[in-house]
Amino acid sequence: MFKRTAWILLAAVAGLLALSARADYQPAAEKVVDNVYAIVGPLGQRSAGNDGLNANYGFVVTSTGVILIDSGASRLGAEKLAAAIRKVTRQPVRWVITTGSQDHRWLGNDHFAGEGAEVIALSRTAATQAEYANQQMQGLERFLGERLKGTRPLPATTALAGDSATLELGGVTLELAYTHAHYPGDARVWLPQQRVVFSGDLVYVDRLLGVLPWSSVKNGQQAFKALAALKPARIVPGHGRVCDLAQAQREAGDYYDFLADKVGTAARDMEPLAETLDRYADLPQFRHLENYGDLHRANMNRAFTEFESQ
Ligand SMILES: [Zn+2]
Repeated sequence: MFKRTAWILLAAVAGLLALSARADYQPAAEKVVDNVYAIVGPLGQRSAGNDGLNANYGFVVTSTGVILIDSGASRLGAEKLAAAIRKVTRQPVRWVITTGSQDHRWLGNDHFAGEGAEVIALSRTAATQAEYANQQMQGLERFLGERLKGTRPLPATTALAGDSATLELGGVTLELAYTHAHYPGDARVWLPQQRVVFSGDLVYVDRLLGVLPWSSVKNGQQAFKALAALKPARIVPGHGRVCDLAQAQREAGDYYDFLADKVGTAARDMEPLAETLDRYADLPQFRHLENYGDLHRANMNRAFTEFESQ
């Protein structure tokens, strides 16, 4: 009898261990093309289990080192990204390029800089990182708790002037250009040789994109058109699985168009806000996207405010 109880207890403990192992998210790299990899994070919210890695990252292995695109939300998150890279190559991370100033894009910078990497961004991206650092550390603390310890915000130390910049790192060409969509100073990274674009938080697929009080739908629409004009073969979006242009168009581009053309026009025509939000409350073409129920109305509201003031 005792034996049986012991077995049941053991099974229960094993079950609990399996559950907590799942909660402890470990990022894994997937090949996009050649030496270009993506790390696709979970679609849900930041948590202690995922160390704030609820976004996408990427890296390029060159003959002289690894180029990492975005560095994670914390020191522990950065260490997890480093471990995922080590499973692919023994090359060190020599360069970190950050596409944005939202927490999970850059709060791992300090970790990689400590290992000898150069941390690069367009100048407005770096400036916005410095500007939002305190706010983001406070916000993250609520989600990550103890696991945020040891994280030191380090805005990009190599700040590139101009509206765009071309880098040659380890024989790989990378073109950075602003999108200014989700956060001011957000950018995308285009690899013309591989025809791969890391969109940063301009493109979301599988989940609805979020419009924050400081986001710009107008910039998002323009930047998406510019990205489409590149005719990328593969897109590593800010959130969601690696995709082609057609999917990005359907799930992000068309949504920017909807917000700018329908909600924006209603705002400029001074139609009542509530009526506009009600009219477009249910959009079947976007309903399947995760977070639609939580974000769609607030997104329209913010788009309305943006276009109303123009
Ligand atoms: Zn994001």
